Amino acid sequence: MDTKKTLAPETNAAQALHFIDSATGAIVPPIQPSTTFARGKDYALISPAHSYGRDHNPTYLPAEQLLASLEGAESALLFSSGMAAAMAIVQSLQPGDHIVAPKVMYWGLRNWLVQFCANWGLAVDLFDLADATALSRAVKPGKTRLIWIETPCNPTWDVVDIAAAAQVARDAKAKLVVDSTIATPVLTRPIELGADIVMHSATKYLNGHGDVVAGVLATARNDSFWERIAEVRSHGGAIAGSFEAWLLQRGMRTLFLRVRQSSASAMTIARHFEAHPKLAAVLYPGLKAHAGHDIAKRQMQGGFGGMLSLRVKGGESAARDVATKCRVFIPATSLGGVESLIEHRYSIEGASSPIPKDLLRLSIGIEHVDDLIADLQQALA
Ligand SMILES: *Cc1c(COP(=O)(O)O)cnc(C)c1O
Repeated sequence: MDTKKTLAPETNAAQALHFIDSATGAIVPPIQPSTTFARGKDYALISPAHSYGRDHNPTYLPAEQLLASLEGAESALLFSSGMAAAMAIVQSLQPGDHIVAPKVMYWGLRNWLVQFCANWGLAVDLFDLADATALSRAVKPGKTRLIWIETPCNPTWDVVDIAAAAQVARDAKAKLVVDSTIATPVLTRPIELGADIVMHSATKYLNGHGDVVAGVLATARNDSFWERIAEVRSHGGAIAGSFEAWLLQRGMRTLFLRVRQSSASAMTIARHFEAHPKLAAVLYPGLKAHAGHDIAKRQMQGGFGGMLSLRVKGGESAARDVATKCRVFIPATSLGGVESLIEHRYSIEGASSPIPKDLLRLSIGIEHVDDLIADLQQALA
């Protein structure tokens, strides 16, 4: 039965696309640790898709196929990390190509882009998200091959209009890549809005349990650029381990429940603390006061995500103090897990960071929201 097209995404996620093992009837996919795959009659590969473990592994398929289905993509590829997935895209460009990316985005990727591009003959220009025309002005016709956006983006949760960026990309004959780690396919499907490739750090919401580092790309089309990306993965070997791939398919079964709970709790927390006297600002796209609220309402369905930031009056030391006083929120980096985390972002990004020093980034998990509110209340008291 081809259930993928007719069933709701929640159903496909819960059942790992109605997985039933044809050999045993098991409803959970097996883990295949083999690094090599045998040949049979006429020296032909027994399974034409599988020859050597750096190219592919059958354990990837449930996670890749589910993600492709959730994103409305033609194909998806699993990588060893979100960064490895992003690097595979950039390494598929040619020297002389031009990249446009936002000034505020996942800092590890921004830093790597700026350093790598300078060394490898790629030009990169960073545009200001607050200026609606900055993206189209940053594009260089005939040279720009890649437009990179992240929405909502780290750690201010600015929202980028994906459909408008896709129009800019089409006009420039560039590829639009959307880092959709924060929104997940539960809240936004960038390919339907015109994106060419969707990237996720699967380390975050897709796996959701803080126990896998992985990344994934999903493509609107199996074109020659996508083939190059697949070659970069198999030659470079930035592949996930089979156990990680298996954990990821298990984590994704509860993706919808987790993301919806995190989003609902984040909304409640954002509203609760919006006018708190110790806070200079609450940054959350679900709040009417947030600059990206109207676009977010248009392109996100069923919630505004589980990430928000607080700007604490009193600056850097006051902000670090709040994080240290928390008893339920765990002071740690990363995001998108079932447990809530709080982080002083500037401490990890350092002096090159454009992030305000008074900013705390909160990843809202699935705990009871009253416990989270009480914890922040006492930490801010
Ligand atoms: C974590 C993260 C990345 C990097 O992913 P890794 O899995 O840590 O390599 C990229 N983009 C966003 C938005 C992230 O949160």
